[in-house]
Amino acid sequence: MITRRRLLGMSLVSLGALALGSGLRQIAFAADAFEVTHTDAEWQKLLTLDQYAVLREKATEPPESSPLNAETRPGLYACAGCALPLFSSTTKYDPGEGWPSFWAPLPHAIVTAEDHSYGNNRTEVLCRRCGGHLGHVFPDGPKPTGLRYCIDGVAMVFKPGAVG
Ligand code: FE
Repeated sequence: MITRRRLLGMSLVSLGALALGSGLRQIAFAADAFEVTHTDAEWQKLLTLDQYAVLREKATEPPESSPLNAETRPGLYACAGCALPLFSSTTKYDPGEGWPSFWAPLPHAIVTAEDHSYGNNRTEVLCRRCGGHLGHVFPDGPKPTGLRYCIDGVAMVFKPGAVG
């Protein structure tokens, strides 16, 4: 049986080259390489319906729907699926698109994959630890990276506090 996770794995590209500027390196990874794995039934118990739709089925939350858009306190944004810290408040900015956005992820927090869905050529952002879909990254962000990580707020949990 071909599971959704296996389809995901087969759709990922194996490019070692730098893409879209510094800081975004597309890497190859196998479908079962994620440290945190669950069956679909387990994910459905662990996540809310909206979290499951985004993290496991790659849905996109409606723009302007996330309370995290307005979050300005210092802290870390962690994966709602596995709690891995993904982004720091120090890289958060508002491009006016309607989703929480950052110009860089935390080190070793995310992986990327080519996404050709809906006839577009986009770069998908996934949690490095559980493979959860987080959003996309675009090459129109601010300095110093020039990248815009456009992330579904429902895929993250904000942990206010000092940013190391
Ligand atoms: Fe995760």
